[in-house]
Amino acid sequence: MKITINALNNSGSPCNVDFIYENSILKVHCPCKAGKLGQLCKHMIGLIDGDESILADSAELPLLLQVQDILNRAPVFQKAINELAKAEGVILNEEIKVSRIRKKLAEALNAGIEVKQ
Ligand SMILES: [Zn+2]
Repeated sequence: MKITINALNNSGSPCNVDFIYENSILKVHCPCKAGKLGQLCKHMIGLIDGDESILADSAELPLLLQVQDILNRAPVFQKAINELAKAEGVILNEEIKVSRIRKKLAEALNAGIEVKQ
């Protein structure tokens, strides 16, 4: 079975992601630059996450749900996806910390910092 879902692309050109499910094996291919390099592109991640906002055509929602149903039967993969989300959450929190510290440092430099004689 092959399920093709058109994902939104920054360039506006269609990005047809193929989910090929045969003999209990699922393969996913995306024609974007990263996808062609075998990388986990934002289109694949978006569709794997079940993010409806990445659909170029909302009429393809039933296809996305069909893909979700297949993915839900791949617990090892789901575990890895959850680990990825957790790691991304850590990065996001650290980026927020970096941003706060930079702001604090900039404010200190603007206000003037005390320097020992
Ligand atoms: Zn892609």
